[in-house]
Amino acid sequence: MHELSLAQALIGEIERIKAKEKAAEVLSVTVRLGALSGVDRASFEFVFPLAVEGTSLEGLNLVIRETPALIGCEDCGKETQPELAFFRCAACGSARVKITGGREFLIESMEVQGDDEEPDGDRVRPETEERQDV
Ligand SMILES: [Zn+2]
Repeated sequence: MHELSLAQALIGEIERIKAKEKAAEVLSVTVRLGALSGVDRASFEFVFPLAVEGTSLEGLNLVIRETPALIGCEDCGKETQPELAFFRCAACGSARVKITGGREFLIESMEVQGDDEEPDGDRVRPETEERQDV
């Protein structure tokens, strides 16, 4: 399955960064998923926990941030979000455009717990999500 190999590749990448940063634990990873990346979000969310099981990243929280398709217009120079059926510049209507965004599938950020130094600035929050006051 396409998404499974992607998940495994992603896990390898996270483990590499984790080792490089000498992090004791990776709490969460934010992945940017472009509208044109060809990655099926639901499938990916399904296989990721399976792929991560048994690795040093087990329990890692996966956050997916979807990003829109972007095209750059060769006539007016603007970068706009096309209506997917047309791929015309939303600013001037030109069809002379090239895809400039939305094909990415990459790690945007990771939240880690360091081994030695205390994380001062970006505080690592435990399980609890932000609560809204009622
Ligand atoms: Zn244009």
